Amino acid sequence: MLANKTALVTGSTSGIGLGIAKALARQGANIVLNGFGDVAGPQAEIEALGVRVGYHGADMSRPAEIEAMMAYAVAEFGQVDILVNNAGIQHVSRIEDFPVERWDAIMAINLSSAFHTTRLALPAMRAANWGRIINVASVHGLVGSAEKSAYVAAKHGVVGLTKVTALETAATGVTCNAICPGWVLTPLVQKQVDAKAAALGVSNEEAKKVLLGEKEPSMQFTTPEELGELAVFFCSAAGNNVRGVAWNMDGGWVAQ
Ligand code: NAD
Repeated sequence: MLANKTALVTGSTSGIGLGIAKALARQGANIVLNGFGDVAGPQAEIEALGVRVGYHGADMSRPAEIEAMMAYAVAEFGQVDILVNNAGIQHVSRIEDFPVERWDAIMAINLSSAFHTTRLALPAMRAANWGRIINVASVHGLVGSAEKSAYVAAKHGVVGLTKVTALETAATGVTCNAICPGWVLTPLVQKQVDAKAAALGVSNEEAKKVLLGEKEPSMQFTTPEELGELAVFFCSAAGNNVRGVAWNMDGGWVAQ
């Protein structure tokens, strides 16, 4: 379905980004990976699916590096047809104790990076009259949780950016939508499971149940594979007129 298309997925060396990259690769898309940590492992996993894989290590908090990454993708793959803005970090703390440097980092990585990649990807998508921009927001783009001020503010911003991008491209073959996961058991959430286990003096498994029980009626984590299939749907012909939605995959979190 996506042969001859190129998908750039930010923060795709781990977790949800890697799950989405693999799902798009299974549909035949070439992939540009980005993110920190082990690159060779994810790269080999995706190459095994029979597509071309590139990598750029741009730090999503730095606009100049984002520009270099977008230029690399065009130089190596011709253009970016599918842009998945996924890189993100979390910090949990009350507002009065929230480190200013963490606030700035979360705004830059979780929100501003999507503005930069989008502004750089749009001209070629418009010229081709086809493109998909998928912003990985969160249920925290729709509702709040205590002690996550920067994350909730940034993710609400991502949902807003999604709507404006969708409106500005509404009469074209370019669509923009957001995915809003509830709990997904990635390294980002494992840190919160560990903190909960330590705070309550319970096992890892008990801490997971407490975390799910607070928010997610299904008592199940959403998986990167499930989120990957939602991204595939947005890229399909059936998604041609799906514009500006913030689609939660959250076990009922925001239905309450
Ligand atoms: P993760 O920690 O497993 O992966 C984050 C990825 O982003 C990694 O590849 C990491 O290297 C990369 N990254 C971090 N900082 C970066 C930077 N400055 N520049 C470039 N890359 C950077 O986390 P995840 O849970 O897979 O999160 C992915 C996205 O999904 C985030 O935007 C997160 O907010 C969102 N999300 C996660 C959950 C969840 O429960 N895990 C729920 C809702 C939304």
